[in-house]
Amino acid sequence: MSVGPFPFWGLMARVKFNPRTKNGSRRRGNRARLKAEGRPCWICQTFGRYAAIDYSLPARHPAAFEVDELVPVSRWREGGYRSAEECANDYANLAATHRACNQWRGNKSVEEVRAIASGRQRKSAGGRGDLPLPQPWEL
Ligand SMILES: [Zn+2]
Repeated sequence: MSVGPFPFWGLMARVKFNPRTKNGSRRRGNRARLKAEGRPCWICQTFGRYAAIDYSLPARHPAAFEVDELVPVSRWREGGYRSAEECANDYANLAATHRACNQWRGNKSVEEVRAIASGRQRKSAGGRGDLPLPQPWEL
């Protein structure tokens, strides 16, 4: 089977047009800046949970640090951005999260996360909500 002279073009196109990796050095700089600030997890904060992040955890750990976009990149138009790339690289739009919290959030808006958090907190005084990540004292 022939794959043509440039079999990697498909892969290269995908990498090139991923707004999160297009401007790699800027993204790495933003990531380092959030880490240097020792930011807590904004999602745990919204739920009134213990929000500190252990920045030394390996990247695949559920409680590891991840960069999150407050206006999700897939919803950049709603945030008034001119492009997905601008949305992904605007430092004011970035926040720190635990990996598991970020996965739970998906592309919910900040308002949607707040609504879920306030609903859960009314139902149970502990306000643990639906977040999958156990708090440190629950481990
Ligand atoms: Zn969290």
